[in-house]
Amino acid sequence: MPEGHTIHRLAARHAELFAGDKVTVSSPQGRFAEGAALISGTVLHGTEAYGKHLLHHYADERTLHVHLGLYGRFTDGDGEPPVPVGQVRLRLASDRHWLELRGPTACELLTPPEVAALRDRLGPDPLRADADPDRAYARIGRSPTPLAALLLDQSVVAGTGLIFVTEVLFRAGLRPTLPGRQLTPAGWTALWVDLVALMTLAVARGRIDTVRDAHLPEAMGRPARVDRHGGEVYVYRRAGAPCHVCGGPVSRGELAGRNLYWCPTCQR
Ligand SMILES: [Zn+2]
Repeated sequence: MPEGHTIHRLAARHAELFAGDKVTVSSPQGRFAEGAALISGTVLHGTEAYGKHLLHHYADERTLHVHLGLYGRFTDGDGEPPVPVGQVRLRLASDRHWLELRGPTACELLTPPEVAALRDRLGPDPLRADADPDRAYARIGRSPTPLAALLLDQSVVAGTGLIFVTEVLFRAGLRPTLPGRQLTPAGWTALWVDLVALMTLAVARGRIDTVRDAHLPEAMGRPARVDRHGGEVYVYRRAGAPCHVCGGPVSRGELAGRNLYWCPTCQR
């Protein structure tokens, strides 16, 4: 599933393509036909991301909400939109650009109270200027749940997925299984600051890089990582491989059905 930086990039991209323009909206596949008809011909005022949720704000306080889930994917281009191929849930077109969405988990119109309810059920998003990390610590600081599970819970922190969570915990030297309530306020502040930095860099680069300069392939004389996620990381999907810091093997375990990765030496 895409992590928050991808959704923030999409929000910026869609604003660049369409903000301020009147758009024609349709649902070639038909599943969003009613909603599309309500916003078609109106102006897209702006876009924003909240965690893994993408919002388009249209005239008349109508908001399009998209959650990509595992299979959702946007494509876009210039000029006339192509003949629809496959299951196109949403198509957006202006005089200059087009956009298509296939396979999302959610593609729906929300009223202002529904948008407010969506925000209320999400934790602070490290990529948003209005994020309040204290809200997350109010949950984390009194929970017996493992830190990794708390950070993956979108109602605690929004936008973080497995890569950011495993990597930020490595960089902090914290075990993924540490109970939330054992994390000190200062420890949380440091984690949050690092999450903001890692996620902001990922927005700029369009991939997740978490390795400090001293541990980059060229600094260590090691081959670059080859992975469809692209970036240089410490432990994510590196089970059994040597830790870039201590050289010991990276461990893998399971937490609530998800793979976790950590270094037993560096994360005590
Ligand atoms: Zn290590």
